[in-house]
Amino acid sequence: MATSTEENYLKVILHLEDRKGAATVGEIATELELTSGSVTTMMHALSDKGLIDYTPRRGLKLQPRGRLAALRVVRRHRLIELFLVDVMKFDWSEVHDEAEDLEHVISDRLLDRMDEMLGRPTHDPHGDPIPDKNGEVAVDVSFPLAEAGEGHYRVVRVSDGDSSILEWLNEKEMKIGGEFELNRKDRAAGILEIRRKSGETLQVGLELARQMFVEEV
Ligand SMILES: [Zn+2]
Repeated sequence: MATSTEENYLKVILHLEDRKGAATVGEIATELELTSGSVTTMMHALSDKGLIDYTPRRGLKLQPRGRLAALRVVRRHRLIELFLVDVMKFDWSEVHDEAEDLEHVISDRLLDRMDEMLGRPTHDPHGDPIPDKNGEVAVDVSFPLAEAGEGHYRVVRVSDGDSSILEWLNEKEMKIGGEFELNRKDRAAGILEIRRKSGETLQVGLELARQMFVEEV
């Protein structure tokens, strides 16, 4: 069994590997706001447990067991978020921090009951795919709105770590699945202009557009 600290490391390595193909000590240290020294110490511990492959100065990689352990934490996190929103009626902007704590403590039995109550869902409230019990996870082909050209798009998912973005989306009644047209991109001003089905036009800052993931319609 991995400890909750180890689980947080495994999760960060998983996200880095998924995003960029590999993780480094420096990147993990930045993500977790720790020194490289303490990350290195943990890399040796995770390697001793057979969760990662680690050779100093050569790089590191999740072992299959480490990957599965990380995906199980992600599964718990996303199911908890959905349970808090759907059943307990929390707003989607309030649940990430709660899930960060709860993901390390709830039992498999409790999690399975929550999964059953939710009807074995495939996505969390922010649009992220929920890995199944075996660590299988749907492929996500969405890309950041910031990288999109003019065209017609649908919101697939939104980063869940920054509640102010989710609150802004609430205010604008922008939801997962919502469609819009990207009209204009003003890189210099850092602003995108989108038009919704209702005809309403919205200005979206580039920072927000980096955290909103879309697919072409
Ligand atoms: Zn979250």
